[in-house]
Amino acid sequence: KQTQRLDKILAHVGVGSRSELKRLAKEGAIYVNGVKIKDSGMQVNPDKDIIAVNGETVTYREFIYLMMNKPQGVVSATEDNRDQTVVDLLDEAYAPFEVFPVGRLDKDTEGFLLLTNDGKLAHNLLSPRKHVPKTYFAKVEWAVTEEDREAFAQGVTLDDGYETLPGILTILTSGNESEGVPSEIELTIMEGKFHQVKRMFQAVGKQVVFLKRLSMGPLALDPALALGQVRELSEEELHALR
Ligand code: URA
Repeated sequence: KQTQRLDKILAHVGVGSRSELKRLAKEGAIYVNGVKIKDSGMQVNPDKDIIAVNGETVTYREFIYLMMNKPQGVVSATEDNRDQTVVDLLDEAYAPFEVFPVGRLDKDTEGFLLLTNDGKLAHNLLSPRKHVPKTYFAKVEWAVTEEDREAFAQGVTLDDGYETLPGILTILTSGNESEGVPSEIELTIMEGKFHQVKRMFQAVGKQVVFLKRLSMGPLALDPALALGQVRELSEEELHALR
């Protein structure tokens, strides 16, 4: 990458708007390679020049990768006329990156959601040919049985006639209707059809009443993340994705 405007780079990483950067430069708060600069519109090489604002070095990045513990009630989109979106939940410091969710969770589904502006990585993760496994925890009404496990292991036929790939069903606790206790299960699927987990249970006559995604490919939901919280992926996590 060649040179770019300093204010453009700094705005992109969320340091401030162009007008704020102009002011910061005037105040003498911006240094390039250790030299105080006055013109926030100067050309710099983001790969070589060392930029500091208010004494802190700015690391320029094109891509950002965020893990969110999605809460219920928000939609997996960047914009929506009616509902709050997962992007609305982000700190405004992330706004310049223009991230989008990698795949979708239903409005009433919780858990692991990756957000990035790296279209290529998103495309690879979502490619049906890649069979990236996704593991879900669910509460299901009512008794989930060994027969269901075997049916999922073969693949089931959804309401539109689609035959799913095999899914790995683990029954954590078996519920029963008479006591009003749902079963608790984990299910790993290798594809991501619309409402797939809910529809797989529908195919065996059962209803998902709570759904949370635990993992996607090599990444697992960080248990330290409260609902609605996000954090950047670590180097190791990013490496595992690539
Ligand atoms: N399957 C579903 O039914 N819903 C989701 O949100 C994710 C997978």
